[in-house]
Amino acid sequence: MKYLIPSPTSFVAGSSNNKIGSETLTLINPSTLEEIAKVQVSDEDTLCLSIDSAERAQRVWMKKSPADRVQVLEKFSSLVDRDSKYLAWIDSISVGRPIRHTIPEYRNLSRYVRYWSGMLNSGAIHRGDNLSVIPSHLTYTTREPLGIIASIQPWNGPAPSFIEAVSPILACGNAAIIKPSEISPLSALHMAKLFMEAGAPAGLVNVLTGDGSIGEKIIEMESIKGIVFTGSVSTGKKVGALSGAHLKKVVLELGGKSPNIVFPDSDLREAAKSSLWGIFYNSGQVCCAGTRVLVSRSIVREFLRMLAHLAKQIKVGDALDARNHMGPVASHKQFMRVTSYLDFAKSSGISSLYSDGEISKTLPSIGYYVPPTILCDVDIDSPLAQEEIFGPIVSVITFDTDEEAITLANNTKYGLAAKIWTKDLNRMLYLANEIKAGSIWGNSAWISHPALPFGGFKSSGIGSVNGIGSIEAFTQIKTIGIRHSKDPTTLPYWQDIS
Ligand code: NAD
Repeated sequence: MKYLIPSPTSFVAGSSNNKIGSETLTLINPSTLEEIAKVQVSDEDTLCLSIDSAERAQRVWMKKSPADRVQVLEKFSSLVDRDSKYLAWIDSISVGRPIRHTIPEYRNLSRYVRYWSGMLNSGAIHRGDNLSVIPSHLTYTTREPLGIIASIQPWNGPAPSFIEAVSPILACGNAAIIKPSEISPLSALHMAKLFMEAGAPAGLVNVLTGDGSIGEKIIEMESIKGIVFTGSVSTGKKVGALSGAHLKKVVLELGGKSPNIVFPDSDLREAAKSSLWGIFYNSGQVCCAGTRVLVSRSIVREFLRMLAHLAKQIKVGDALDARNHMGPVASHKQFMRVTSYLDFAKSSGISSLYSDGEISKTLPSIGYYVPPTILCDVDIDSPLAQEEIFGPIVSVITFDTDEEAITLANNTKYGLAAKIWTKDLNRMLYLANEIKAGSIWGNSAWISHPALPFGGFKSSGIGSVNGIGSIEAFTQIKTIGIRHSKDPTTLPYWQDIS
């Protein structure tokens, strides 16, 4: 069989690590169910090779001047720009991310790399504090790299996940071992090669292929000092426990069930348009998707009429067709999971504002397509309002007062993001204060920048990434104290031993 992409392997120590006879995984295009590639799975030998080379490369990396490291990052960012269309195509066929999104977004991917090379260039990363707290001493802190950091990644945004992890990991002076999702390793494998073209030392960026079993082996390796995991809560708990057992510094970026709260004093049309995007973008497979619409009872009819009118215009189909707003969900597993919630809604008698009708008839017969679905009057305790579905399904819940909106917003185990739509600044500030979530977005479905920390409260995670979050995750603080006077009162010693 001829595959679109010939037999990829892991990328370690600066080259593709071809191992004849190793276990393979078949990648499927969820838009067409065609096989894309067979990927060789990394084994323990490959993992050990990646660690040896990462240790060597990290030493070389830190011996380079910041200016030389910046040059490599800058060159890499221009190569990402050069190949952005190819990367967009790879991710669109791998996980069904619509090409109408991947093309413009991937043209912009390099801004993450540039932000971090700028941070490195400015000296902001390794900046410490001068803490004059003990007389006759110079006491100060520095920030040092951890050494090797492993990033274990999900499938919903493969190239962005790679870039957003690798840029701060390297800028902070570490080497990286990246474990992309088993269903979407191709863009990461391509970008690891780009690092070689950019002049990085061999082994500075390694990509290991495979599923959770290689993920666990990575965490158990002594030489890997930090783990940044992005994925589901259930896997996150295992990763957190295993990291703890091996005393690893760990960041957990987990799931969400974010409230999208609409007040009568908002610009309703703007709120409806942006909420629609925030719910159904990438077929709802976004950690911070606004999958619980909390709407004031006084405007619920009007708002839902607007939302339904807009939802009817969503075109669903092959991710490579630029006319489509939504592609399929990413895999058979995801399709079964998402449709089981639709079956549950039907069997519970929950009315769907928009799902079964005309749109279902227009979906392609082959591929993992799920219609955009708006479920009305969902009970707050229903699994539809409590569990992360990670698909194009939104639950609508009404409220009467600000206090009730806050209670409903906080009534899940998650706390990743919250979107609040109101023109009343007092109300906005009060809700921003009271809602337990790592990110609060006012009058927008999504606000993001590499400088803005992103992390979850409650079960949505531990720690954060971006900006100061990544610096704290990927460096460790060293405290240096030097006594610089002959002042005998500050020297610790036993006076009766001379
Ligand atoms: P997942 O938890 O199934 O897998 C994530 C990664 O962990 C994969 O690479 C997988 O191979 C690996 N893995 C699985 N078992 C493991 C184990 N025991 N030890 C180590 N690694 C293991 O998640 P997914 O289905 O790939 O991704 C979807 C989830 O990711 C959703 O819950 C979504 O909300 C979350 N997500 C969160 C963020 C965020 O920033 N908070 C961003 C994107 C996605």
